Amino acid sequence: MDLRLTEAQSRLQKDIRAFLESMKKKEEYPFTNDSLQLVFSPEFSQKLAEKGWIGIAWPKEFGGQGAGYLERCIILEELLKSGAPVGYHYLADRQVGPGIIHFGSDFLKNEFLQKMLNAQVSFCLLFSEPNAGSDLAACETSAVEEGDYFILNGQKTWTSHGHSADYGWGLMRTSFDSKTPRHNAFSEILINMKTPGITIRPVINMVGLHSFNEVFFDNVKIHKKYLIGKKGNGFRQIMTNLVYERATIDRLIQNYSAKEALFEYAKNTEKDGVPLSKDPIIRDSLAKLEVEFQVGRKYIYYVTTLLDDGKIPDYEAAIGKNFCTLFEAKLSDLATNIMGLHGLIMPDSPKALFKGIVAESYLMSPSYTLQGGSVEILKNIIAKRGLKLSLK
Ligand SMILES: Cc1cc2nc3c(=O)[nH]c(=O)nc-3n(C[C@H](O)[C@H](O)[C@H](O)COP(=O)(O)OP(=O)(O)OC[C@H]3O[C@@H](n4cnc5c(N)ncnc54)[C@H](O)[C@@H]3O)c2cc1C
Repeated sequence: MDLRLTEAQSRLQKDIRAFLESMKKKEEYPFTNDSLQLVFSPEFSQKLAEKGWIGIAWPKEFGGQGAGYLERCIILEELLKSGAPVGYHYLADRQVGPGIIHFGSDFLKNEFLQKMLNAQVSFCLLFSEPNAGSDLAACETSAVEEGDYFILNGQKTWTSHGHSADYGWGLMRTSFDSKTPRHNAFSEILINMKTPGITIRPVINMVGLHSFNEVFFDNVKIHKKYLIGKKGNGFRQIMTNLVYERATIDRLIQNYSAKEALFEYAKNTEKDGVPLSKDPIIRDSLAKLEVEFQVGRKYIYYVTTLLDDGKIPDYEAAIGKNFCTLFEAKLSDLATNIMGLHGLIMPDSPKALFKGIVAESYLMSPSYTLQGGSVEILKNIIAKRGLKLSLK
């Protein structure tokens, strides 16, 4: 395994950096902390699409560039480090597109892949429910067959971008026979979020921002052509889908701007006439933080090479997400400790340093370790599939 970038990959990195620099200068699009969760800009996503930077890793036969997940990682790393508004397209690029390529019918491929590549359609994930998060096999939202349609009833929750996405990728219970094994009882369905019978209610997070939603289904009628893959295979499909969600660098750099803020603060803030960066304890903490950042970054690059080798790196992705989201939480914690009261001032205050991103990131950080599989669930995957520590 060679993790050095090829000439073409280095060129790609330079190109995306130059592009982002010019976009930032124009000040037409909102660049911010945690842009994955918070900022939705179809126009910005369309600029990336024009460059061919959405779906770069998808095979050419499906309209992608046939490059690699390493190339995708290079692009995403630069986008997120700069705080670019990627919310509109990132789910399509990261997991909905690959999910349709793996499991979707020709109808779904024709209907959606090109639109995703052009940034003309956006998605949300309808998995979690009030009584089913880590244990998705406890989902109750039902899809009952009626002629050519499924009739959906129930509730999803924590749906990021549910209020702005065009379609939802839903995990629905399609078998109600108690003899059916739990994991064969589910199917995946693509759901137009404007279908009559869908009600979306905002859930405001601790930072005071609206990214989550509750989504209610009341006799929602969806044509069977929107079934993804095979009926009853939804649970297995979703496990592949979650590997794409976990195997990416977004899990390391969602709050990258807090890291930059912390280092700048330590260099430019004095205590008793001496910069904080000369304090041996602070130097030690910052150096340790950087070690973890670099280890996480290299590990994610390694996991993307496994995807490029055609593998579905389930426990490797679990290791990466586990390590990297704990890093993000540690970064927020250290930044608020070192910055003291400055680290607690929220973005809406005129006294906030670095636009309040450290306080915001501190409040967001518990969620980093939960979304896409909590640290405990990931450790279970590592123990079971990586270390073969069976419970039977
Ligand atoms: C920022 C953010 C965005 C999200 N976006 C979406 C979205 O778009 N769509 C969507 O469907 N969901 C979304 N979620 C929900 C997310 O997938 C769930 O929060 C996650 O799966 C955990 O489920 P839960 O919250 O119900 O917690 P629970 O499953 O109730 O877990 C609570 C605690 O118990 C622990 N635990 C549970 N089971 C075990 C076990 N077997 N062994 C050891 N410990 C265990 C967990 O680790 C956790 O600490 C999002 C969450 C966050 C934080």
